[in-house]
Amino acid sequence: MKLHTAALRQDVEANSIFDTHPEVSLDFQHVQSALKKGYSKPFLLVDSNIVRTKARRFKAAMPRVHPHYAVKANPDPRVLKALIEEGVGFEIASISELDLLMELGVPAAEIYYSNPMKSREYLKYAASMGVEWYVLDSVEELRKIVSVKPDAKMYLRIDTPNIGSDWPLAGKFGTHAAEIEGIIAEAAALGADLAGVTFHVGSQCRNPQNWRVGIERAKKVFADMRGAGLTPRLLNIGGGYPVRHVKPIPSIEVIGEVVNEALADLPGDIRVMAEPGRYLVSDAAYFVCRVVGTATRNGKRWMYWDAGMFGGVIEVTEGLSYQIFSDRSGKSIPWSVAGPTCDSVDILMRDEMLPEDIEEGDFIYIPNAGAYTTAYASNFNGFPLPEVMVL
Ligand SMILES: *Cc1c(COP(=O)(O)O)cnc(C)c1O
Repeated sequence: MKLHTAALRQDVEANSIFDTHPEVSLDFQHVQSALKKGYSKPFLLVDSNIVRTKARRFKAAMPRVHPHYAVKANPDPRVLKALIEEGVGFEIASISELDLLMELGVPAAEIYYSNPMKSREYLKYAASMGVEWYVLDSVEELRKIVSVKPDAKMYLRIDTPNIGSDWPLAGKFGTHAAEIEGIIAEAAALGADLAGVTFHVGSQCRNPQNWRVGIERAKKVFADMRGAGLTPRLLNIGGGYPVRHVKPIPSIEVIGEVVNEALADLPGDIRVMAEPGRYLVSDAAYFVCRVVGTATRNGKRWMYWDAGMFGGVIEVTEGLSYQIFSDRSGKSIPWSVAGPTCDSVDILMRDEMLPEDIEEGDFIYIPNAGAYTTAYASNFNGFPLPEVMVL
């Protein structure tokens, strides 16, 4: 395998002092062995040992923080099993994620319902299955949860800066300072057990200071909660821990230093948890697909893969740059890359520098693609879902 120049692109930024994350990737030899058995459709090859290693590294970097994996990043049961065996808990957004975990024997008490908007039906189901902890970020959601489960333990999702995150989430969720007081007052008035605070710094967050700011804000909210007669017991520092693609990133150890320092004066009776998704699974897998054809349009080169934004390669359309490898070594030229469907949105990249000699039938290899790939894929236009293979 030859590296093409996009893979070597450094994208060195002013903040590259934070580029402290060592290279971790599935050994490419595993991909070659898998391909020897033939190829029928795009696949994700996951090494569950790397998933385990990442879980251990996360815990070592932040000894006080219990990781609860965000199931949506990669819900493959074999991945979940490896994490269960490593003692990792879970956070969910829906009841089918809950069912998946219960089938694998995860106790409901280890599962946190971290979607700030839950339907009444889903709440009833989760409550009946024994889920204890529920997030909220509005007075309406507080009342909804309490009306379904009066003894629910709840945590308030607050707004935090998403500066330096590839997917800023701020705006969609998170209570702003002006609304916090009203929610706390309503919880106290209802006699509800609002007992925690959470935040999400944004996915693929490359700025460790966002966690520090979130933790400092949470401490202030804890003080307000105590002032209203509530008993805070949970700090959930969310997800967002970044993985290696082409941009410089801070290591989990560097993030851990910032987090650990911010936690130093937090009372010992507050349980601290986090919700890593991408961090635990991304490095563990290669995504492999194939070029179905090439074309020249208006003087520009186009290639079409058998997996596009509906087939698992969707995060590129939201600003993520993957490393992309092929078996070709020709000079790099700008290509437009599209998926196999007929939808005009199914364009992955424009002016991506890739070898000029790529042609029909070539394989495309994307390392560190274990998160948010297969989980997003659909059968749109009749194309098959990528297969997940686990080592
Ligand atoms: C998606 C999500 C996560 C995981 O985010 P990553 O960026 O993959 O770490 C954690 N918590 C919540 C509430 C989420 O929605």
